[in-house]
Amino acid sequence: MFYIKSKLLGGGTVKTEITDENVFTRCQKCECELPVDLVEILSDGESDLFSTSFICSRCTTKKVTDEVIVPIIYDGIVWLENILVRSGYGEEIQYLYDSFHINSLEDLRPEEYNEFGNALAKMAIGIDEG
Ligand SMILES: [Zn+2]
Repeated sequence: MFYIKSKLLGGGTVKTEITDENVFTRCQKCECELPVDLVEILSDGESDLFSTSFICSRCTTKKVTDEVIVPIIYDGIVWLENILVRSGYGEEIQYLYDSFHINSLEDLRPEEYNEFGNALAKMAIGIDEG
């Protein structure tokens, strides 16, 4: 058994046994609390307690979105917009620009790509149905 020994301000000490349920760290990015599996860290032969950084699953997913999916979506937006304009949806797209407060696709912020792309996709689906 391992335990943590902490000195209290009043002079006493507290001993806390380390179990597989009471060790936590913080996500390096969003600071949320993450449970740590000490057995896993110590057994992989590479990590150690002080140099290993932890990222929660939410931030891991977000990272992938930022780096990989967004550029593809931007190209998709340009492509889809071209088709919609040629299909006579210029007015609707202008309306969409106004609601996003942009004058061209280049003004679109990366975090808006998804929302804008979805709005365009909805228009495109409308064409198919009509
Ligand atoms: Zn996080």
